[in-house]
Amino acid sequence: MNVGECYLGWSTKDEVREKGASGGLVTSVLAAALEKGLVEKVLVLKKISEYDAEPIITDSVDEVLESAGSLHAVPVGLSKKLGLQLTRLGKKIATVGKPCDVRGMYEMALRDQINIDNTYIVGLNCGGTMPPILTRKMLREVYEIDPEEVVEEEIAKGELIFKTKDGKEIAKKIDELEEMGYGRRENCRYCFVKIPTNADLACGNWGVPKAKQGQATFVEVCSEKGIELLENAVNAGYIELESASEKGINARKKVEQAMIDLASKWREELLPSIPDEERLSFYIKELEDCIGCGACKTVCPVCACGDDSKCTTMISELDNHKISLYHLIRFLHIMDSCVACGMCTDVCPAEIKMSQLQARFSLPFQEEKEYVAGMTLEKPPFFEVR
Ligand SMILES: Cc1cc2nc3c(=O)[nH]c(=O)nc-3n(C[C@H](O)[C@H](O)[C@H](O)COP(=O)(O)OP(=O)(O)OC[C@H]3O[C@@H](n4cnc5c(N)ncnc54)[C@H](O)[C@@H]3O)c2cc1C
Ligand code: SF4
Ligand code: SF4
Ligand code: SF4
Repeated sequence: MNVGECYLGWSTKDEVREKGASGGLVTSVLAAALEKGLVEKVLVLKKISEYDAEPIITDSVDEVLESAGSLHAVPVGLSKKLGLQLTRLGKKIATVGKPCDVRGMYEMALRDQINIDNTYIVGLNCGGTMPPILTRKMLREVYEIDPEEVVEEEIAKGELIFKTKDGKEIAKKIDELEEMGYGRRENCRYCFVKIPTNADLACGNWGVPKAKQGQATFVEVCSEKGIELLENAVNAGYIELESASEKGINARKKVEQAMIDLASKWREELLPSIPDEERLSFYIKELEDCIGCGACKTVCPVCACGDDSKCTTMISELDNHKISLYHLIRFLHIMDSCVACGMCTDVCPAEIKMSQLQARFSLPFQEEKEYVAGMTLEKPPFFEVR
C-alpha cells in the first residue's frame, strides 16, 4: 500500500456495515486501531438524537462501534475537544473529523495544543452540516414530518433525504431548501475544503459506484499513518478493501470541483462587498448586540492565547465604543488562521454571525497570501505561538 492510493472498503461486521453511513469502514478502522493497541483512545461522536451528539474520548471498542453513522444536523467542533482533553497528556489517539475539524487540529498543533505525531486522523469528506433547531423547523414545515420520527438522513445527488421510523423516505432539493433559508449552515455553503487530504485517511461516499452506494466507503490514503490504520484494520479482520477504479477516482474529483464552484457562488451571495464608506457602520451595526460573553473565543480552535489574550486583556475603560476592541483584535489576530468552522456563529447567544464577519477578513487575506489555514504544519503568515 502507498500514500496517494485510493480504495473502496467496508466493514466485515454486518451490524456496523448496516449502521455505518457508507459501509462502516471508518468505525471499523477506529475500533481496530484501539483493539490492536495502535492507539490508547479514540475520539468519536456518541449519538443522543439525530440533532445532538456528544464527542467522547473512549478506550471501549464497543463504544467506538456504536458511533457508526453520519449526523448531518450535528455541527460539532472536534478539534478543541481533542486539544483540551487529550493529546497533551501524551496518549496515542485516533480521531474522526470533517475537513474543518482536521484543519482546526493542525492549527492547534501549530500552537502546541495537539501533538499531531501521536494523533491518527480519519477525515470525512463534507458537503456541510445543518443547524439542529432550524432543521427541526424545516422538517415540521417543509417535509411535514415530526422531527422525532426521523431515524436517518442522507445527502445524495443534491437532495436531502430523511427516513422515518415507519419506513417513509422524503427527499427535497438542497438548492431549493437553501433558497428558503433552510439547509446547510451559511459557513458550510462557502467552505472550500471538501476532502480532508490533510488527514491520514480521507473517507467519503463520492466516487463509490452506484451498485455499492451506502455499502462502501471511498478512501484515499494520505500519509504513512493512514497506511498503518488501514493495514491494521485489514489484518485485524475488521475491513475488506479493493482498489478504486479510475472512473470512481474521476467521479470523486468532479463532485469535489462542483462543490467548490458552488461554494464560490455562495461566497458572492453571502459575503457581498461593502462600499468603503459604509464599512465602519456595517461592522458597528453587525456587532451592536454583542454582550461580551466570550463564547466565540472559547469555542474557536485557532484561539490558544488563554487568559492572557490580547483581545480580552486590552478591553478597558477605553473600550467604550460600540465596536469592541475585543472583536477588532480577534478579526486581525486570527485572519491568517481561521478555518471557517462556523463554531463562533453557532454559539453566539446574540445571534451575531461571527464566522461570516471573520470570513470577510480571513478569506481575502488567506487568498492573497496563498495560504489555506490548517492544511499543513506550515506556519500561517502572521504566526505567533501565543
Ligand atoms: C456532516 C457530514 C457530511 C458529510 N458529507 C459528505 C459528502 O458531502 N460527501 C462525501 O463523500 N462524504 C460525506 N460525508 C462522509 C460520509 O457520510 C461517511 O461518513 C463516509 O463515507 C464514511 O462512511 P462510513 O460508513 O465508513 O462511516 P461510519 O463507519 O458510519 O463512521 C462515521 C463516523 O463519523 C462520525 N460522525 C458522525 N457525524 C459526525 C459529525 N457531524 N461530525 C463529525 N463526525 C461525525 C462518527 O463519530 C463516526 O466515527 C459526510 C459526513 C458527515 C459527518
Ligand atoms: S465548515 Fe466545511 S468542513 Fe466544516 S462542517 Fe461545514 S462544510 Fe463541513
Ligand atoms: S473564528 Fe470562528 S470560524 Fe474561524 S476558526 Fe474560529 S470559531 Fe471557527
Ligand atoms: S459569542 Fe456573541 S455575544 Fe458572545 S462575545 Fe462573541 S459575538 Fe459577543
